[in-house]
Amino acid sequence: MIPERLSYAWLNHRDGTYDSICERCLRTIVLHRKPIEVRLVETFHHCGEEDLRQTLRELGPGLIEKQLAAILEGAVRQ
Ligand SMILES: [Zn+2]
Repeated sequence: MIPERLSYAWLNHRDGTYDSICERCLRTIVLHRKPIEVRLVETFHHCGEEDLRQTLRELGPGLIEKQLAAILEGAVRQ
């Protein structure tokens, strides 16, 4: 079982909608949705073990850098 400790980076669009990226598995879990819809999807997101393994394979040593960039991006935009 993968422990739960999730946070998300939100990217805003000009039309008032948002994308949400899970800062742990780095998957974009929702695209172009209103804030209330984004929070609902986030409530039910669980990082998949295979998604985490694929992210690690794809990013390797750059994983932490990408995660920190996503966290900072979310911090700036919220
Ligand atoms: Zn995730």
